[in-house]
Amino acid sequence: MVVVGAGMAGVQTAVALREQGFRGRVTVIGAEPHQPYDRPPLSKAVLLGKAEGSAFDVDFESLGVELRLGCEVHGLRPDARELDTEAGSVPYDVLVLATGAEPITLPGTEGVPGVHLLRTLDDAERLRPVLTRQHDIVVVGAGWIGAEFATAAREAGCAVTVVEAADHPLAGALPTEVSAPMAAWYADSGAELRTRARVERVEPGAVVLADGTRLAAGAVVVGIGARPATGWLAGSGIALGAHGEILADDRLRTSLADVYAVGDCASFPSARYGERLLVHHWDNALQGPRTVAANILGETPAVYDPVPYFWSEQFGRFVQYAGHHAAADRMVWRGDPAGPSWTVCWLREERLVALLAVGRPRDLAQGRRLIEAGRHMDSEALSEPARPLKDATAD
Ligand SMILES: Cc1cc2nc3c(=O)[nH]c(=O)nc-3n(C[C@H](O)[C@H](O)[C@H](O)COP(=O)(O)OP(=O)(O)OC[C@H]3O[C@@H](n4cnc5c(N)ncnc54)[C@H](O)[C@@H]3O)c2cc1C
Repeated sequence: MVVVGAGMAGVQTAVALREQGFRGRVTVIGAEPHQPYDRPPLSKAVLLGKAEGSAFDVDFESLGVELRLGCEVHGLRPDARELDTEAGSVPYDVLVLATGAEPITLPGTEGVPGVHLLRTLDDAERLRPVLTRQHDIVVVGAGWIGAEFATAAREAGCAVTVVEAADHPLAGALPTEVSAPMAAWYADSGAELRTRARVERVEPGAVVLADGTRLAAGAVVVGIGARPATGWLAGSGIALGAHGEILADDRLRTSLADVYAVGDCASFPSARYGERLLVHHWDNALQGPRTVAANILGETPAVYDPVPYFWSEQFGRFVQYAGHHAAADRMVWRGDPAGPSWTVCWLREERLVALLAVGRPRDLAQGRRLIEAGRHMDSEALSEPARPLKDATAD
């Protein structure tokens, strides 16, 4: 078994193969030179120097998993069942692709000194002294990473301006009604959020916006999204989607025989939501590998159709989301979005399909189970924040 990518999904695949009884050879190949590590702390404790690193607590040696680190895979030749790496070719019987995602760069800023991304441990280590020096920092993009970085930079005492092309934060993930109240969180923390602001260019020490505004910037942090790291699969014959994601089936198999894909690099069809999902969150990189291992080893097919889950820690708030919603789903609020804690639920034909909970982990835990069970909700009861969510069902 060969796994490409030594992030959460790759490492968990190796662990799951062993947990599920596989005794043969398992090799995990990763491009980064570091011991495999967890990414969420990079925009939180690691960035602030509160934790040295975030290496996974996995004993690869006692698991009998061979790690080949600092080794980039360049190509896949399915006819020969071989991978091409910097260190020569690697044969496989079964292959798992877990190459994750890479951050989207701001055109024209690649390699410009003082412009940073935040995806890897090396990125976080480069950013730590930037925070210590308390520069003026401009963050491009008010998404999850932008918000978490701004939180850390404010905590470190930096002056922070966040520029966002859309008219509200998290525009790609949440509707305006939900994310508009979050804009106030930036101001409360002392960060300036400029929406409808497009970056024209980045110059040494400044970001110039399309309307001519010049923002002083000792450092620029770009957080405008990530795309699947699948460029190396070009010409392999593997089916990719419009965003470069590997098109896996509901058992996380790719279009090539004995090749699976899991984590940030792959999308899968969800019968639960009636569409293909490309999930860039930690829980998906934890759950998917168990399905992959079960399908590689087991005789009964294991279908992957999770209720997606993620969390974010921003501006002193714990934000959690479970499920998946579409624009047509009906929203029901629990609590006042101007207050410190509230939840918004999405209903489709009166079934709970998703919820976002701010500072209400109990709502999240109960909601996640209700979504999994496909329960119908009584929307009036649901809108009473004092009533436990599990007591607001209609069936
Ligand atoms: C800063 C940060 C904070 C985050 N915080 C949260 C959070 O709070 N909550 C949450 O739910 N999610 C969070 N996430 C998302 C979560 O970390 C990812 O969804 C998760 O890491 C995905 O795991 P993965 O293994 O699929 O991909 P990755 O973690 O990207 O790992 C893929 C690995 O494959 C390697 N690789 C790529 N191409 C090749 C190649 N050709 N050859 C060899 N190796 C290769 C890469 O170097 C990388 O190490 C955060 C992400 C980041 C970057």
